Amino acid sequence: MDTLGDAEIVVIGGGGVGCGVVHSLCQAGKTDVLLLEKNDALASETTSQAAGLVGQVRASIDRVKLAMWSVKTFSKMEAEPETKPGWRQVGSLRVALTDERVVEFEQLKITADRAGLETAFISNDEARGKWPMFDFSPAKSVLWCPSDGYLQPNDLAMAYAHRARKKGARLTTGVTVEGIRTEHGRVTGVDTSQGVIACDTVINAAGTHAWHVAKMAGLDLPIFPVRHEYFVSVDADGMQPELPVMRVPDASLYLRAEINGLLLGGWEPESLSLMPGDFQIGQTPPRVEEDWDVMGWFIEQIAPLYGKAADLGVRTIFKGWPTFVPDGKFIIGESRKLNGFVMAGGCNAHGVSGSAGIGRHVVESMFEPSPSDYVRSLSPDRFLDTEWDAAESQAKAKRIYETYYGLGQ
Ligand SMILES: Cc1cc2nc3c(=O)[nH]c(=O)nc-3n(C[C@H](O)[C@H](O)[C@H](O)COP(=O)(O)OP(=O)(O)OC[C@H]3O[C@@H](n4cnc5c(N)ncnc54)[C@H](O)[C@@H]3O)c2cc1C
Repeated sequence: MDTLGDAEIVVIGGGGVGCGVVHSLCQAGKTDVLLLEKNDALASETTSQAAGLVGQVRASIDRVKLAMWSVKTFSKMEAEPETKPGWRQVGSLRVALTDERVVEFEQLKITADRAGLETAFISNDEARGKWPMFDFSPAKSVLWCPSDGYLQPNDLAMAYAHRARKKGARLTTGVTVEGIRTEHGRVTGVDTSQGVIACDTVINAAGTHAWHVAKMAGLDLPIFPVRHEYFVSVDADGMQPELPVMRVPDASLYLRAEINGLLLGGWEPESLSLMPGDFQIGQTPPRVEEDWDVMGWFIEQIAPLYGKAADLGVRTIFKGWPTFVPDGKFIIGESRKLNGFVMAGGCNAHGVSGSAGIGRHVVESMFEPSPSDYVRSLSPDRFLDTEWDAAESQAKAKRIYETYYGLGQ
């Protein structure tokens, strides 16, 4: 191709995941990489809406370690004198309001200990010291993780892109991938809005369009967009950017300060999802309308800790269609059904915080002669070896969303 040139590896999608994957490839010495983004700017779709929370306390050791890798990467990038991801390592508080949750926190702490992640149970008074305007008296347990925090998702994508470009990767906007070329069971190139590009490997980081891109390659993967929203309030007494991130799983909520406002979001019990075939490749996903009932529900849910939330005006609602899959795990790695076709999707609303860890595992799946059991467990082939029913799989994906903070998740 004349203008863009061919490449060893083409990455489809310039969101947090695509940019993170290109960054990881460059770190691994793979720099003949071309990222294609259909919009006029990187990070302009789901990533632009994310809250930027980065949490490492997870239910499995592998998942904790993936998040720890992300945190290590963000800390290193923030310390460098270059484009920064806006990473604030303010710590996080996880608040239990029920006895069952206390038991879950104890198990989470054991998993964190085994993964080498520092966490500690702190008293309600200590928690109040960290969030003075909140009433922690209903809290039955508070788990503190000092190395958690939050970042600015667009800044993260730009920071990845900047570093990758410096190493020689090319990241291009305004180019839509319209087809995948294959020969004898392997990828040979992509058809784009600006012509054909030859390549050996295609990485599908197309976010809400990951289903469409996989379909172009002849692979049918259960990747379902599920609506997600949060709001940022007008300035509120006591809110300042150094407050820790807070999660109240019994209320299905997360929150942090956004400058001097409150950022409050959560996982409503009845989610709204699309069938991926409801919209087309090349288009933006359908617009998400503000749902004030859901915002009202967030405010009711936070009332036991922060009754004043009801008095705060809403400044902005952020919203989008992160993708969920029936087993709630990332889809990472090459499919044995098509050599050279690699997935980096199905992020279950962890795509920003997970991006560095996802990139690392994509690299491991491609270049390690024997990837870890965990990386192999994320392979797209887990959905391609058997038939799956669309309605049933969508119901399971919605359930992953609705029970995001469910006990035992
Ligand atoms: C309200 C909200 C809050 C969230 N909060 C968090 C959070 O706190 N922490 C967290 O980790 N995650 C959060 N998420 C989830 C997170 O935003 C996603 O997991 C993440 O952005 C996914 O990144 P992505 O790169 O896969 O997708 P996207 O950002 O959607 O990027 C995919 C890109 O692919 C491009 N593309 C698609 N098809 C083509 C094609 N054919 N050719 C070329 N380009 C194409 C699209 O234009 C798009 O830019 C949140 C999501 C929402 C909506």
